[in-house]
Amino acid sequence: MECVFCKIVAGEMPSHKIYEDDKVVAFLDINPVNPGHTLIAPKVHYDNVLDTPDDILQHMIVVIKKITPAILKGVGSESCNIEINNGAIAGQIIMHNHWHIMPRFKDDGHRLLFEGEPYKEGEAEKIAGKIKENIT
Ligand code: 5GP
Ligand code: ZN
Repeated sequence: MECVFCKIVAGEMPSHKIYEDDKVVAFLDINPVNPGHTLIAPKVHYDNVLDTPDDILQHMIVVIKKITPAILKGVGSESCNIEINNGAIAGQIIMHNHWHIMPRFKDDGHRLLFEGEPYKEGEAEKIAGKIKENIT
């Protein structure tokens, strides 16, 4: 398996692991946005959120809740971005499902990635309707 994160899981590539159990591993990002930037990934390879089984996803968020206070305390931060880049166009580079936990600091120079713009008249109703009819 050529996947970088599978190699990290298997211990074939070095990483700074901060947490591990039977289902997931969490390790420091090699190119951190800020100190303590952590990635959490399932031990079994799934490409992204949508093909990861529910029980693994549920476990991931519970582990995120467990380790995030320790990450923040470890680097002296009060807030963090917890995010997933799901799919190449959304910025996913490593195609092995993972969440980012990114400690933030006041005036750390990072801007919010997204800028919103209000819907036009009637547009929100139309889009919400289209989405709702596809929820199975
Ligand atoms: P993505 O854009 O796929 O959500 O993020 C991939 C992340 O993995 C990036 O933040 C990148 O710095 C990190 N990364 C890539 N290769 C390695 C590696 O070999 N080791 C570690 N620890 N992180 C990596
Ligand atoms: Zn993998």
